[in-house]
Amino acid sequence: MADMQMAKIVGTPALEGTYIAEMDMWPLECQEFNRNYQFYDNLREGRFTSTKCKKCGHIAFPPGVICPKCWSEELEWVDLPQRAKVVTFTETQAGAPLGFPPPLIMAWLSFGKDSPLKHLLVRIINCAEGELKEGDEVKLAVFEVPSHPIEIKRETKVCDRVYYAFERVK
Ligand SMILES: [Zn+2]
Repeated sequence: MADMQMAKIVGTPALEGTYIAEMDMWPLECQEFNRNYQFYDNLREGRFTSTKCKKCGHIAFPPGVICPKCWSEELEWVDLPQRAKVVTFTETQAGAPLGFPPPLIMAWLSFGKDSPLKHLLVRIINCAEGELKEGDEVKLAVFEVPSHPIEIKRETKVCDRVYYAFERVK
């Protein structure tokens, strides 16, 4: 029954199923469609991860299936820091794109000099208009994304989905 209910949700969540699934902006996260599915499985466990090259040690973000430095395909998953500081940000109070309720806050984060991931441009959620300040500490926030049915080898499957943003440490 749970699958039946989820199957009714198609397309962009904010449009309440009015539009077709082609307008969906979130990645397909299941193993059949995404070679980086491990990243999303790790998010479900509360882990923020990326791929590290076993040959040259380079840690890329976002994760990939080949090292951008030496082209090796021998990669392993490593954990990244889940806390960062806000360097600067923008706050869209009206006219945000479909599927993003205002305020749409995009922040440039700094993870510190010891982190393999130095900076990240990312969405800040669970934050009211005017609440975020430069220098604020933020942490990883994983949220569920509505799924829709997709066809895999003549079978219809509903892949549960999650995505990540950051939120203020209060
Ligand atoms: Zn490499």
